[in-house]
Amino acid sequence: MKTQQLKQLLENETLASQLLTYITQHQLPTSADGCILYGQPKLRIYLNKQNWMVIRVLWTLAHQKVTQHAIWHVCNHLNCTNLEHLYTIDDAPPELFWKHVDRQTDDQCWPWLAGVDREGYGKSAYPGINSRRANIIAWQLANGQAVPDQMVVRHLCHNPRCCNPAHLAIGSSKDNSQDSVRSNRVAFGERHGRAKLTEKSVIAIYEDYHSGRLTQRQLAEKHQMRWETIRAIVNKTTWRRTTQGLNDSHIS
Ligand SMILES: [Zn+2]
Ligand SMILES: [Zn+2]
Repeated sequence: MKTQQLKQLLENETLASQLLTYITQHQLPTSADGCILYGQPKLRIYLNKQNWMVIRVLWTLAHQKVTQHAIWHVCNHLNCTNLEHLYTIDDAPPELFWKHVDRQTDDQCWPWLAGVDREGYGKSAYPGINSRRANIIAWQLANGQAVPDQMVVRHLCHNPRCCNPAHLAIGSSKDNSQDSVRSNRVAFGERHGRAKLTEKSVIAIYEDYHSGRLTQRQLAEKHQMRWETIRAIVNKTTWRRTTQGLNDSHIS
């Protein structure tokens, strides 16, 4: 529908009320999900030698302005005429986005529940936001502004799926690559069973084993570590500086 045609609708009260009356007569009763479906096969009305699109007529009259943007449905009913279910890029409800996020308490991660991209980031489309990464959309919705130029949205929790605004911060792309180096290092340490080890626990493992109190398997279980990690300690393959000089006469 042309802008001129819609302006005419805003200026001509008779035309507007004729169209509204026609639409109201063909609306079905509100369904359980709040939709007001249109009871005609076509969502168009022919009046004054012009085609009027039902949904655009309703939107224009309700907002008293003309929009060039597409009109979308929050619900999945393309013939729904409930004004609260209609939106454009300018007034899309944030709930459209947040319904795909598992919103936990403030200090927990809020995982994105729908698809993720190759790098594990949530993938989403939200009208008016020019990004497909869910964390970027989450930041923008929570802060009510676009991400400034040259800035990126960082995950303070290193969880690419997370959309908790409290875990998101903007920074330069340099900050971001430092984040990922740091988080890789942590993950690497954990994978190798080193992260939880302290000098104190290494000495305890060494002595428990070499005094015959516990086997390597039992030690692995007790410290929740891989057996290989324990074996490397008691054989002085790793942590040699720490275990140097300790008694290693294994009794059993
Ligand atoms: Zn609806
Ligand atoms: Zn998080």
